[in-house]
Amino acid sequence: METYSGSMQDPQLLRYSRQILLPEIDIAGQERLLGASVMILGLGGLGSAAGMYLTAAGLGHLVLVDFDRVDTANLQRQIAHGTKDIGRLKVESAAERLRALNPDCRITTIDGRLDGGDLAETVARTHAVVDASDNFPTRFALNQACYETKTPLVSGAAMGFAGQVCVFKPGQADSPCYACLYNDHDAAADTCTESGVIAPLVGIIGSVQALETIKLLTATGVPLLGRLLRLDALTMTWTSARIAKDPRCRVCGGPEPVSA
Ligand SMILES: [Zn+2]
Repeated sequence: METYSGSMQDPQLLRYSRQILLPEIDIAGQERLLGASVMILGLGGLGSAAGMYLTAAGLGHLVLVDFDRVDTANLQRQIAHGTKDIGRLKVESAAERLRALNPDCRITTIDGRLDGGDLAETVARTHAVVDASDNFPTRFALNQACYETKTPLVSGAAMGFAGQVCVFKPGQADSPCYACLYNDHDAAADTCTESGVIAPLVGIIGSVQALETIKLLTATGVPLLGRLLRLDALTMTWTSARIAKDPRCRVCGGPEPVSA
């Protein structure tokens, strides 16, 4: 057996052993995870699941962004928060839960609405972004920031019994963006916050987002790039369809941005 001479300590080698055992991840992949920074926008149902799996898997740094506070009606599916957290800021409640889960993961919290330059600046300091928000204006703003800073975006949504995930990698030739998929007309029809959602669905979709993020960070497998993965939980049917880049897209349709 080879002697390990990297930066991980024995407890970490043990803690992440079931991932290090995977030839696709190995020591190198685990070290990449421990050195990576990811932003999660939205600490609701999707963000709870994605955040908990990324933290447990040994991500080095998480930036949690949410302006909202924990409400009783959140607890049915937002498993990073507990009954005692009602009324607390979601980022504080989630940070406490995640720190208890794995102290290796450094957590930064931003309790507010980020937009424009602030959002792009925060996104630029991360290696990937998990969109776990619940509304179109936020999703469009996040897509814009990821496009400008060429940051990979792992987008997820869940409503009723239906969920979807898609990964966008701005800067890659022919890569579509979130705005190629949806326009302002779709956004006007959004009723996400008023409709119900079945609890485990957000866990499934958030977990797929965490897995796709780990794959991106460790360059493992084939990412869900430009493919829209959909789940109909009522029939438990998964489908996936390629998304074409829209040459007239208001975000990515013009010339490439110069900032990296
Ligand atoms: Zn686009």
